[in-house]
Formats: sequence, C-alpha cells, structure tokens
Amino acid sequence: MILHVCCAPDATTAVERLRDEGYEPVLLFFNPNIQPDEEYLKRLEAVRTLSDILNLTLIVENLPVDLWKKEIEEFKDYGEGSIRCFKCIEYRLRFAAWYAKKNNFKAFSTTLTTSPKKNILWIHSIGEKLSKDFNIEYIRRDFRKKDGFKRSVELSKMFGLYRQNYCGCIYSLREKRLGMITR
Ligand code: SF4
Repeated sequence: MILHVCCAPDATTAVERLRDEGYEPVLLFFNPNIQPDEEYLKRLEAVRTLSDILNLTLIVENLPVDLWKKEIEEFKDYGEGSIRCFKCIEYRLRFAAWYAKKNNFKAFSTTLTTSPKKNILWIHSIGEKLSKDFNIEYIRRDFRKKDGFKRSVELSKMFGLYRQNYCGCIYSLREKRLGMITR
C-alpha cells in the first residue's frame, strides 16, 4: 500500500498501527503545499530520517507550487480549516491515489488523520471518492484515535524528529504569525 505522508511526526503512529495490522506501507511524500522551500526541505529530511529508522521505502514526488496555488487560489484567505484545506487535501490525495494505481499498489491511505487539527470526515470523504475514481482501495483509518496524536508526540521525541509549528502553506504561516492559529 501507499501511505501518503504529510509529515514525519504524523507518520510515526500511522506506520506503527498499519504494521500492527500486517501492512508494510510504502511512504509517498507529496506535499507541494509546504512553503517556503527551507521548510519543505526540513520536513522532507525528517521523513527521510524516519524512513531510515523504521526501514521503510520512501518515494518523493513534487509538482510546482503554482499548480497547487491554482487549486486553492479562490479560497486562499479563508483560513485554516476552511474549504481551502479541503481543496489542498484533495489535491494531495488525488495524486497519491493516482500514483498508487499507476504503480500497481493495492491500496492507499494518509497520515493526515493523525492530526487533531484536520477534519477527519472530509479526509475520509475525499479518500472514498478517490477510491471510486481510481478503482483502488482506500484504507480508512483514524490514526488520532486511542491517543494516536499523543503517541506521535512520544515517538517523534524518541526519534528526534523535527516537528513543525504551522500547517504548511504560506497562508497558514501568515495566520500563525498574525496569532490567528495556536499550535
Ligand atoms: S492550512 Fe494546511 S491543509 Fe490548509 S491549505 Fe494550508 S497547508 Fe493545506
């Protein structure tokens, strides 16, 4: 299966739980939303560290940030948690589902459900729609359940992983700086 990874901390719990179920996830880092470039590289480096520690295969794919911006342009000032995020998540998961299908994986999922900040129903509705569009299984899991987020904090500390303090896009960074978001 392909596991879309939004960041290393969120992947810790997801990988642990999927392995407990008998899956061996292949990580796919596809996050053109992360800006600026230094931040993108920091988060990617943390995912590389995690994949080395846990002996996982990591695939890194990217597209120009302008393509991602086009997707969310109309909603860019709506704030974190708005339809802007729905569009952003859909964009990234669409790529993951497409990639999984194209490369003959049997299923896909995402680490995004580890975060208490994300709208889990949106994520699952997107995953299930893409499952139909691409004729591939969506592994629907709420990784934040049963203290999943707390576990991700513990594991991130244990592995020495970088933990970001804003969601990822330049707009969320601005909102953080303006004090509109606490994390
Ligand atoms: S706040 Fe996060 S989920 Fe929402 S658009 Fe920005 S990067 Fe995407």
